[in-house]
Amino acid sequence: MLKEIVNPHLYGLSREHLVTVDKFLLETETSIAFDQMRQAAAKDGIDITLCSGFRDFQRQLGIWNNKAQGNRILLDKNNHEINAKELSHDDLIDTILLWSALPGASRHHWGTDIDIFDANQVNVSQLKLIDTEYAIGGPCYDLSCWLDKHSAEFGFFRPYIANQSGVSPEPWHLSYYPVSNEYLAQFSLKDFTRLIKSSDIQPKNNIVARLNDLVQRYVLYVAPAPEALLSRLQHSVTE
Ligand SMILES: [Zn+2]
Repeated sequence: MLKEIVNPHLYGLSREHLVTVDKFLLETETSIAFDQMRQAAAKDGIDITLCSGFRDFQRQLGIWNNKAQGNRILLDKNNHEINAKELSHDDLIDTILLWSALPGASRHHWGTDIDIFDANQVNVSQLKLIDTEYAIGGPCYDLSCWLDKHSAEFGFFRPYIANQSGVSPEPWHLSYYPVSNEYLAQFSLKDFTRLIKSSDIQPKNNIVARLNDLVQRYVLYVAPAPEALLSRLQHSVTE
């Protein structure tokens, strides 16, 4: 089955395009841009630190199935714990998707997307990855403002923004546009469907029936890269 998939690195099935940064794996070009961005931020007193990089298909499938089976805490949109067994199959899928991507459809499979925090302000063990940490008064607020101003200079943007993406806002999640935009364009519903059908994801029949809609909403519907980033890219191409 895997042999039929044209671009296995798009679905978390390959590690050939990755290099190690700290204890994470990142796509090669992403790692170079990340290093430059981190050095620039350090001059402004911000310690950009990774808390997530590449994640493979099996790991994402494990997270998904543990939530589907009630073995891992499942939260509703108000952060309240709910019982997976009390939900219909379709409600269960929608609830998991509030916080987790379908295996094969996570941008973390690409190695171009990272979750970051400011290690000068908060310890990773205290970090919860919630909005308030990146809003005014939160430990990663200065980082967030710095990213608003400078991340485009290094090719990074935020794909998950309120009212501009199917995925809930994630101010800690950055994507390296020059590579991730190419990967997104190559994403194949056909290959993704094949992969899901061959996996032991639960509840599989309900997921397969909705796959087209789920890809539209959670994979293809992301915030556009800011103008500042696109015009820089344009310049570097024409130079
Ligand atoms: Zn993320």
